[in-house]
Amino acid sequence: MTVFSTNDFDDHESVLFFHDKETGLKAILAVHDTTMGPALGGTRMWNYASEEEAVKDVLRLSRGMTYKSALAGLKLGGGKSVIIGDPHTQKSEALFEAFGRAVDRLNGAYIAAEDVGTSVADLEVARRQTKHIAGITEGGAGDPSPATSWGVFNGVTAAAKHKFGSTDLKGLKVAVQGLGNVGFGLCQHLHKAGAELIVADIYEDSVLRAVKELGATAVDPATIHAEEVDIYAPCALGGAINEKSIEEIKAPVIAGAANNQLETPEMGQELRRRGILYAPDYVINAGGIILISHEGPTFNRKAAFKQVGDIHNTLLDIFARADAEDKPTDEIADKIALEILESNRKKDKGALSLSA
Ligand code: NAD
Repeated sequence: MTVFSTNDFDDHESVLFFHDKETGLKAILAVHDTTMGPALGGTRMWNYASEEEAVKDVLRLSRGMTYKSALAGLKLGGGKSVIIGDPHTQKSEALFEAFGRAVDRLNGAYIAAEDVGTSVADLEVARRQTKHIAGITEGGAGDPSPATSWGVFNGVTAAAKHKFGSTDLKGLKVAVQGLGNVGFGLCQHLHKAGAELIVADIYEDSVLRAVKELGATAVDPATIHAEEVDIYAPCALGGAINEKSIEEIKAPVIAGAANNQLETPEMGQELRRRGILYAPDYVINAGGIILISHEGPTFNRKAAFKQVGDIHNTLLDIFARADAEDKPTDEIADKIALEILESNRKKDKGALSLSA
């Protein structure tokens, strides 16, 4: 297995492998970049098919967090962690305590939060062993998903404004793929705004709830991306936009919560060529991290949600610049994030030379 020479390594500051013999914990903690502040990112627990897959996942996600936080204007760097194991059968308090000890070894360079496969309760167990945990209920902001849903909703209205000329979603058809914590919350906002919902999930219970409570129309999860809708919102797992699905997508707008929506970087260019407006995933789904960044003694939920709403304007700027430069929106987002990082690195160097 290679680490330093993989494409995803991308100059990570550190990648640490932790093993705890007693609990069976196998975790990888990745710190990509701390220019803007401590590296904050979720902890994913997943039954990876191989260790290589786990390394690839943690590196990709950790790098994504650097860009996400920089673009959201937060004083946070990028990091992520993965626990190799089945979240349905291999969780225990001892395992998350061991994970907490692993996080503590980084002395605050990395701050963990929940992610796919872990919950606020799991992270609260880890918190017994380290203070470097965010997004918990006690003394924290709690579940970040409602903030993420709110941010995605504000991103959807930005995309509608850019593509259709109005933020009014009344009568627009929106296909929401994945009705989990974020997807369902998004549906509630969309319903309130008068949008017509087309939904799919592999869990029937969530689908039935959306049909009953929000008047949604249920469709097959395997083909929801191909529905004749105005907006397609991928809110399940990554890779929704790939070589096969891109041929079938009819929506002129893609704006959803899922991380790593583009299976390959070429997909962004291809979406632009086809005239499909894409809201870059890490920009539109930054609501949770924005909420968490407000944690602390002066935590104010209302102020945090107000900042989450700024995702709307950030996206409008990205869309306008993408048109002006005739570049894919994801490329423009990366460019802006890198500009922010670069100017902060220069500031850091300036401060160092002044104090030397
Ligand atoms: P979740 O696990 O609560 O929900 C995911 C949902 O997708 C589940 O209901 C699952 O059944 C469904 N699903 C899985 N495969 C599917 C398929 N093939 N077709 C249709 N549905 C499918 O997760 P979540 O917290 O709602 O997050 C959703 C996405 O948003 C993830 O990609 C996550 O990384 C991203 N995200 C979440 C947050 C957050 O605050 N929770 C923040 C940023 C990004």
